[in-house]
Amino acid sequence: MRQLTTQTLSVTSRSRCEIIDLTGQVEKIVRENVKSGFVIVYVPHTTAGVTINENADPDVKSDFLKKLERLVPKTEPYYEHGEGNSDSHVKTALVGNSATVLVEDGRLLLGRWQGIYFCEFDGPRRREVYVRPVDLSGGG
Ligand code: ZN
Repeated sequence: MRQLTTQTLSVTSRSRCEIIDLTGQVEKIVRENVKSGFVIVYVPHTTAGVTINENADPDVKSDFLKKLERLVPKTEPYYEHGEGNSDSHVKTALVGNSATVLVEDGRLLLGRWQGIYFCEFDGPRRREVYVRPVDLSGGG
């Protein structure tokens, strides 16, 4: 039951900005490795992040991306970063790079409508996501 290492998921985005549901993949790792504890999902990139939000209605994902686009436009007269992806860096900082979910009986304690969103802000590209399951059940 006890897993002491970080696992790496490979994620391939197909658009510049895209939300990819990681819930199923994280669930699988948790089921195999954690009875009671938590899991940390960490995105080691500066233009992609992770958050938790509604997984039922796909319109929530597209509305979320559209709103972020409004808040953080791709170009601004004052951007100086030479790569031309300042918006991607800002969006990533707003969303954050990690999510923690509690686990009981090998199941993620997500709310009924919640899912784990990988947030691509400078795709398309191949990305990595670190998943660190932590079992605190004392080896029982
Ligand atoms: Zn950059």
